[in-house]
Amino acid sequence: MRRYRYRCTICRTTSPVVHQLDDLAAEGQAHRHAVHGGHTPDDEIAGQIDRLGRWYAALSPLIALHARIADGLSDLRDDKAMGHYWWATAGATLILGSSAGLILLVVSAAL
Ligand SMILES: [Zn+2]
Repeated sequence: MRRYRYRCTICRTTSPVVHQLDDLAAEGQAHRHAVHGGHTPDDEIAGQIDRLGRWYAALSPLIALHARIADGLSDLRDDKAMGHYWWATAGATLILGSSAGLILLVVSAAL
């Protein structure tokens, strides 16, 4: 389940979480129309977020990959809620760590 948010940096407000891109566009449009007379605020942010409410675009690649894996594992239990389960965070860390170890093993065996 994907999660999106719209943030207006002028008003310093963030929309509720929505699950469809169409709903995200509607959130931004409704805010711009109601508060800013249809103008587009500078530096507004809209995009996909992880279950912790962080924009994926603002995360470093490794942290974003960890968040996607933890999101996927947490969605197995409850795909509507926010936050990561501890076992999903630990599982994502284990998957990334074991993948890095496997790559290191293969590379060192090839040399
Ligand atoms: Zn605004």
